[in-house]
Amino acid sequence: MNFCIHRGTHEIGGSCVEIWTDTTRIVVDIGMPLVGKDGKDFNFKKYETFSSSELVKKGVLPDISCFYENSKVLIDGVLISHAHQDHYGFSRYLDKNIHYYLGEATLKIIELSCDFTPQITYIKRFTHFEHDVPFSIGDIRITPFLTDHSAFDAYSFLIESGGKSLFYSGDFRGHGRKAKMFEWFLDHAPQNVDYLLLEGTQISRGVNVSKTEPEIEDELREIFSEPGKINLVYTSGQNIDRLVSLYKACGKSKIFVVDVYVATVLKSLSKFAAIPYPSKRWQNVKVLHSYSKNTKLEKEGKSKTFRQFGRTLKITSQEINENPGKIVMIVRYSMRKDLEKIDGIKNGNLIYSLWEGYLKKPDTKRFVDWLKSRGFKYRYIHTSGHADLNTLKQLVNAINPKNIIPIHTDAPEQYKNHFCYPVREIDDGEVISL
Ligand SMILES: [Zn+2]
Ligand SMILES: [Zn+2]
Repeated sequence: MNFCIHRGTHEIGGSCVEIWTDTTRIVVDIGMPLVGKDGKDFNFKKYETFSSSELVKKGVLPDISCFYENSKVLIDGVLISHAHQDHYGFSRYLDKNIHYYLGEATLKIIELSCDFTPQITYIKRFTHFEHDVPFSIGDIRITPFLTDHSAFDAYSFLIESGGKSLFYSGDFRGHGRKAKMFEWFLDHAPQNVDYLLLEGTQISRGVNVSKTEPEIEDELREIFSEPGKINLVYTSGQNIDRLVSLYKACGKSKIFVVDVYVATVLKSLSKFAAIPYPSKRWQNVKVLHSYSKNTKLEKEGKSKTFRQFGRTLKITSQEINENPGKIVMIVRYSMRKDLEKIDGIKNGNLIYSLWEGYLKKPDTKRFVDWLKSRGFKYRYIHTSGHADLNTLKQLVNAINPKNIIPIHTDAPEQYKNHFCYPVREIDDGEVISL
């Protein structure tokens, strides 16, 4: 068995690993970079008009044969670890006949993103895998392990062939709402793994112990207890752990308000886990509709998407104005025009619940500044979607690998300071034969 990390040995994002034997070739993740070669945020718009072969020449897409559109022979499969753009974002360039292997909820999340944004998914041929159920592609055997991460339905992979093995950690943590999955893994970790490809997003940040999601929930509850203040929360509509923390912190006295997009995500994923969504069962979850966004959905023939949250499930601007102190609402910059029309949106708490680095993005900054100008108090309440150092060490000790290879990190050189196992720092494009 051989492998090559096409991108990710010295950066966070754009993950892509190719693995092959004499007869089988697979790729794990085909992510979009978060940062461009100039060190600035990766701007996909700059590349939209280029073909896949041009993008390979420019070094934007990984140079993998039998992979992109109009290939005569195809690679045998693509595994997607989870529904974050930096793990699946370039799948749009792949040949449409390529077969994907991914979690059922992961595909659902990718499809939903495409319903609400100009993205298109070409994931048409697929097999859903399940936690701890091995499957084979040619002579490569794969065992997915459901893991704790800020993306719902995220997996690590054990990949074996010809008596050799590698373990791809994917993005993971041990302090989220699926901490039990991580604990389960520590007791069931594969042994004698030749190479552990270990994510290290937090290594350069030097975080030994991260706050847990239940701790975040307590901090939120404390803020929400301030009487009479409206609470707006800037967070990801796909971070289900965080949305659950917010819902729980609302208790019985608050109304949890989401827009049609977040409502759709919650409802779609409620099939996979007991999560709150606007419905008779979860009476204090309500939907704020946007006239312009509903009109857009209607034009695209998707009026069902917002109509399912009508009548008793919606909340109006007037209802928010009548009692702003009861409201906890998820917001993002694209909602500004709708929020401007609501008088009650003032003098409240703005809870920023994402990585603070994203605050530099101009759209986000403008939105946050606008809310500050309306008398909002900025509060930062967040915990990372990635493992802290203690959790990384626990995983490494449980697997007891022969070698560690840094991936999904901006500090591969620091691994050797933290782990008592051989660390092999490799470069993008380097081939390792087992
Ligand atoms: Zn990632
Ligand atoms: Zn991720």
